[in-house]
Formats: sequence, structure tokens, C-alpha cells
Amino acid sequence: ANAPQKRYSITLLPGDGIGPEVISVAKDVLKLTGSLEGIEFNFQEMPMGGSALDLVGVPLPDETLAAAKHSDAVLLGAIGGYKWDNNAKHLKPETGLLQIREGLKVFANLRPATVLPQLVEASTLKREVAEGVDVMVVRELTGGIYFGQPRGFRIDENGDEVGYNTEVYAAYEIDRIARVAFETARKRQGRLCSVDKANVLEASMLWRRRVTAIAEEYPDVELSHMYVDNAAMQLVRNPKQFDTIVTNNIFGDILSDEASMITGSIGMLPSASLGSSGPGLFEPIHGSAPDIAGQDKANPLATILSAAMLLKYGLEEEDAARWIENAVLDTLNKGFRTGDIYSTGTKLVGCKEMGEAVLRSVESQV
Ligand code: ATP
Ligand code: MG
Repeated sequence: ANAPQKRYSITLLPGDGIGPEVISVAKDVLKLTGSLEGIEFNFQEMPMGGSALDLVGVPLPDETLAAAKHSDAVLLGAIGGYKWDNNAKHLKPETGLLQIREGLKVFANLRPATVLPQLVEASTLKREVAEGVDVMVVRELTGGIYFGQPRGFRIDENGDEVGYNTEVYAAYEIDRIARVAFETARKRQGRLCSVDKANVLEASMLWRRRVTAIAEEYPDVELSHMYVDNAAMQLVRNPKQFDTIVTNNIFGDILSDEASMITGSIGMLPSASLGSSGPGLFEPIHGSAPDIAGQDKANPLATILSAAMLLKYGLEEEDAARWIENAVLDTLNKGFRTGDIYSTGTKLVGCKEMGEAVLRSVESQV
């Protein structure tokens, strides 16, 4: 192995349920990949979620947020569980998740939906439609209708009760998410589709105008626009037409879930949340899976692939990221499967054994 040339500090937030099991495996994979690429990681494990509630009474301790802010990237397992489901809002594990996203000022959520050739049968779509799908949804995370003012309930002039929300986007919010999306598309196939409802909504009209303006900074990326109703249809009709999608908070909420269901494998899907500067937050999209926690049954591949996103989008270490991605594919090619992706003729393994298989695949690339 090369002598370490680069050092990064990584905050690990194992969290609850299967979180600690999958984080432990992903940490080993990062450590080994780093050592082969001349990268040294300094890991710091901090409490968050239900386990932090039990320990110190809050879902996101100040020390945890401070450690995260001062590191180069944050890798999170999962948060929550039955035990805390009836807690008051400020004492819910999931509140910690909102707080850390806010604390790290991550406004861009990246969610890939990739149908791997080895798992094409798991897709909800027909083989010929699903084969080769590799979409990245870039969702604006901190603006739009979920946060816009005014909002609330009132009684209208007829005495009827009304609930209302406001879709608000400032140009700077659109510009910064557009830049993340163009940068992301650049690291992929170089095609970006901006999804909006510019035929009806003023916020979308501005969105389309700003994205088109920012495109001038990225002449190497091919930009197209699509209305959200059409995009929802195209995602299930012919998802292969998409490379990178950028869209607002509410459309991204819906489209990223739609895209991930195409793959049919929740235990395989990573995510990244990025800001303008400062550390990104990387986590599997699945939850804490309390039904299988502590039984060595969890699929660690979503977290391992989140670690690959950490390298690619968080540290610009694209070579190291590719090592991990290739190792995951190699492990699947060798037939290793956790229960959630098992099919007859494959080799059923637990979380730890899957991790060991990935480590061997990383090493075999040397
Ligand atoms: P919540 O958001 O309330 O936590 P959820 O729908 O996200 O709920 P998950 O915790 O993701 O729920 O679990 C949904 C189902 O998928 C469970 O049956 C769980 O066991 C399974 N599952 C989730 N993640 C994994 C994984 N990494 N490996 C294996 N099975 C998983
Ligand atoms: Mg869950």
C-alpha cells in the first residue's frame, strides 16, 4: 500500500436499529479502500437519534453537531425505532435528522436509483424497461412549499375553513441547487433534465429561467426541461432516458421515491445531502429496520454505496469511490445476497459476511 498522502476526518453517526451494524461494515470498507488509495481516515463516532435520547436526553447532542461540522464528511446509519415512536416531537429521534440537515446547511439531496444487472428481477418494471436504469434525482431540500410563507389555516368569507401553503423560491436558492445538479451531471453522463411546472406556477417559471441561465456556466452538460406530470409518467414508461434530474423540494420528494421503487431494493440505495461548503451528509435511504435489528440480517450495501458517494461527492475522491462501487458489483456477481435481495441459486449471507465479501472484492482489485 502507498504511504498516506491525504487525511480526512469522518464523523460516523451509527444511530439506531440496524444503523450500528451497517456503519461498522461501511467503516471497514472505507478504511481498507483508503489504505489502498493513499488516504487516511480519522473516524469519530458520535451518538444521535434514539440512542442519544437514551444517553443524554436529546436526539442531536451539541457535541455531535459540532463534531459533524468540523469533519470533512458525515456518514449516518439510521434513526428511530418503536421505543421512541410515542415521544413528543422535540424528543423524537427523527427530529435529530432535521436538526443535523439544518445544522450542516445541506440544501441538495442526491438520490440515485440504479437497477443493477444482478438485481433486475427485483424491479417493479418489466426487464426490458428496467435493465440499465441509472437515474440520479437532485432534490432541493430547504425551500419551496414545505417552508414558504404565508402558510396556515383560516376561515374564508363564506365561513369555510381553508388550509394554505405557498411555493416560494428565490433566485439564489435555484442558482445554488442548479450548480450542484450541473456538477453532479458532469460526474455522470453529462445530461441534466430540470423538472418543473412552469406552465402553471410562477415559482417554476423563475426556476426554469434561472436553471437556463446557470447552464451557460456548464456548456459540457446537456440541459432539457420537462413538466413534472410528464416526468412522473416518463419515469415508469422509459426511465433509461434520464441521467440526472434536478427539481424542487416537493416534486423531488415524490419523484425520488418513485425512482427508488423502480429498483425494488431498499437495502441497496444510498443518498447524499450537500451544501455549498462544509461537510456533506451521506446515508442509506432505508430506515432503522427494527424488525431485523441486532440479528446480523441487514443489507450493508446501501451504506457501503453511501460511503462511495461520500468519496465521490463529498471528498472528490472519484477513484476510491469507483473501487467501492466495483467491489459491490463484484460481490453481487459472486452470488452473495442478504435476505432482502435473496433469490434461489444465490448465496444467503448476513450483514457481517456481506461486508467481508466486499472487503475481499476491494482487495482483489489491487
Ligand atoms: P421508517 O421511515 O418509519 O423508519 P421505513 O419504511 O423507512 O420506516 P425501514 O426501516 O426502511 O422502514 O424498513 C422497511 C422494511 O425494509 C423493513 O421490513 C425492513 O426490515 C426492511 N429493510 C430496510 N432496510 C433494510 C436493509 N438494509 N436490509 C434488509 N432489510 C431492510
Ligand atoms: Mg424505519
